[in-house]
Amino acid sequence: MRKLASIQTVHTVEPIPNADSIEKVGVLGWWVVAKKGEHRPGDKIVYCEIDSLLPERPEFEFLRASSFKPAQTDPTGGTVIPAGFRIKTIRLRGQVSQGICFPLSLLPSGAPTDEGADVTDLLGVVKWEPPLPVGMGGKVKGPFPGFLPKTDEIRVQVLQTVLERRRGTTFYVTEKLDGTSFTAFIRQAEFGICSRNLWIDEADDSNVLVRAAKAVRLEEKLRAAREQLGFDLAVQAEVIGPGIQKNKYKLPTVTLRVFSAINVDSYRLLDHADMLSLLADMQMESVPQLGTLMLNHTVDQLVAFSEGTSALNPNVQREGVVLRPLSEEYDEELGGRLSFKVINPKFLLKYDE
Ligand code: ATP
Ligand code: MN
Repeated sequence: MRKLASIQTVHTVEPIPNADSIEKVGVLGWWVVAKKGEHRPGDKIVYCEIDSLLPERPEFEFLRASSFKPAQTDPTGGTVIPAGFRIKTIRLRGQVSQGICFPLSLLPSGAPTDEGADVTDLLGVVKWEPPLPVGMGGKVKGPFPGFLPKTDEIRVQVLQTVLERRRGTTFYVTEKLDGTSFTAFIRQAEFGICSRNLWIDEADDSNVLVRAAKAVRLEEKLRAAREQLGFDLAVQAEVIGPGIQKNKYKLPTVTLRVFSAINVDSYRLLDHADMLSLLADMQMESVPQLGTLMLNHTVDQLVAFSEGTSALNPNVQREGVVLRPLSEEYDEELGGRLSFKVINPKFLLKYDE
């Protein structure tokens, strides 16, 4: 689970060229710009990651002018996301700043202060999400099914020790596309479609994911592949195009770009080469493949590597890259598959994300 607000230790404080009143503070693999002298190496602090939505409380009011977001409600008036202050990537004097640090005195008495302690709930911090795109409503069958893994990726900034341990491993690199998450499966002869968090009605054409699946005859293709492979399977893809995330890549039609194929029987992802050959058989497209990388990088080096334009449109900054080993590996520290994302800071700044 991602810890939006946690106890961390400042490991580095460095000046920013041409800035007298601010400096950059290193926390985990992140850089945060702060007032000069506010933090020292070794200080324990409360760190809130980007995408944190801080509650409307007096101690956060100083953020109102820069960061206030009104509540998001559903059609019945229920609160989907409360009002609050959104922490996002910013740039100050040329230095990218991601997240915010507070002294431990922010915490109520009795709060945990051990390194890494999760204080998200305690502080009333929730994850900020952009409003749901139109066309994502429609009939829901239930929550995301437990027999499939969800599509989340961990951020490289919290993986410093993993990077050190995995030095020398070869990873394949794909472009992280900014659309909306899609999963489709055949399980015990049943065909299903899911969004990031919901199992949706595969017959409801008002949903853009359903239309995207139909456009490529996905059910038929998955059933055929299931017969050939001899196990139940799922594909996970990013749906991009008109009506989704402002169609950043300016595509003429809605498109599915696959990033995972799953053996549902064994609850395992197919290895990279197997996934690509499955997609070739199914005549489906994958997310852009950017080659391989032998890991020998710091977080900062990977962040620099993530910068670049999209393979789908050279005029657009790419969201970032996703790195996975060529054959699937479990990582104990991650408590799951070895796979992570590196987000291009220029994308975050450009699209205000
Ligand atoms: P949101 O779902 O709100 O857009 P996000 O994209 O940051 O947030 P993460 O869990 O951080 O979500 O990142 C994983 C998501 O990235 C997946 O759910 C998937 O939809 C999407 N994605 C896009 N391109 C890729 C790719 N090449 N490899 C893996 N996932 C990808
Ligand atoms: Mn996304």
